[in-house]
Amino acid sequence: MERRAIRIGTATIGGGGFAVIAGPCAVESREQMLAAAHGVRERGATMLRGGAFKPRTSPRSFQGLGWDGVELLVQAGRESGLPTVSEVMSEAHVERMAASVDVLQIGARNMQNFPLLRAVGRTRTPVLLKRGLAATIDELLAAAEYVLAEGNADVILCERGIRTFERATRNTLDLSAVPVLRERSPLPVIVDPSHGVGVRRWIRPLARAAKAVGADGLLLEVHPDPAQARSDAEQALDLDDFAAIAEDLERMDAPSLRMRGVRGAITVPSDDPRAILDSTKRLLAELVARNGLRRSDVVSLLFSLTPDLHAAFPAQGAREMGWTEVPMLHFCELDVPGALARVIRVLAHVNTTRSQQAIEHVYLDGARALRPDLVREIA
Ligand code: PEP
Ligand code: MN
Repeated sequence: MERRAIRIGTATIGGGGFAVIAGPCAVESREQMLAAAHGVRERGATMLRGGAFKPRTSPRSFQGLGWDGVELLVQAGRESGLPTVSEVMSEAHVERMAASVDVLQIGARNMQNFPLLRAVGRTRTPVLLKRGLAATIDELLAAAEYVLAEGNADVILCERGIRTFERATRNTLDLSAVPVLRERSPLPVIVDPSHGVGVRRWIRPLARAAKAVGADGLLLEVHPDPAQARSDAEQALDLDDFAAIAEDLERMDAPSLRMRGVRGAITVPSDDPRAILDSTKRLLAELVARNGLRRSDVVSLLFSLTPDLHAAFPAQGAREMGWTEVPMLHFCELDVPGALARVIRVLAHVNTTRSQQAIEHVYLDGARALRPDLVREIA
């Protein structure tokens, strides 16, 4: 199944990348939105969120700034260069909202508001569809079909936690929905751990888990001053929390480094200091080049020399190349009859993403590896 990639201005959701939608639960003021927008942008967010029409459990809670809030979000998006996401709660608002923001969010409480789903389906603005509080995966997919059926193909599915018997977390973040949804639908799947757990300190591990389980992105509530947040303050990340999560996510992309051993050897024309140092430098340069290493990848070097070489330490050659931090050690080899004359051998430990089989050992100017067939010859 070919995965759907949705282009939203400078951002893409689905199709291999990882989208990070960040911003406050609710738009509260111009200063708050600008601080949030620039703050999350600098720390790696790809899109900006902010609720202007808020679906609050109690009518006495802050309901959002309405169209003034939309305007503040749009301005902050423009100034920071981030595409914007905001919730649309009513059919009557769809057209104006679609003309203002880059993604229309359908909140969990409206996942089965069928006239609203059809209305956003008639726009050509991407839709972020949140899973209902007590909706099954089938029901979420069926809700998405209402949007698709009206001709809008750009639907992003969002797991945001469901209501279970568990009360320790705000909701139960159903990460199993991610692989199931990805198997059943080509639509991008993102995860909202903020509403999923509802507690600031538990968001970071679940953000990592969401990425590990195959989500196409995250939705995170971030406030420049969480203590002042007018809604969902307990789950609001500050900019430092957000930076830590963004770093975690980036680190997960880095291929893991392993330590590997690289062998090398070179014969030296004469037991002369310059000859020893120059040969050492050539050997090390070749070892690094053939294995795509940087100097900082070299962990340590062990040199051994045949007993006929004592005019200089090879380490001096390495130091001349600027390898000043690498620990090194020398040994004098056994004087085995028939062994090659004037050989410098090296065993380098290096950090690399290559497998040990892909490591290229380096033998120059007639030097050879200690080959198993030679060992057998003696026996
Ligand atoms: C939100 O993301 O602003 C929100 C209200 O979330 P949900 O609809 O998932 O509760
Ligand atoms: Mn919220």
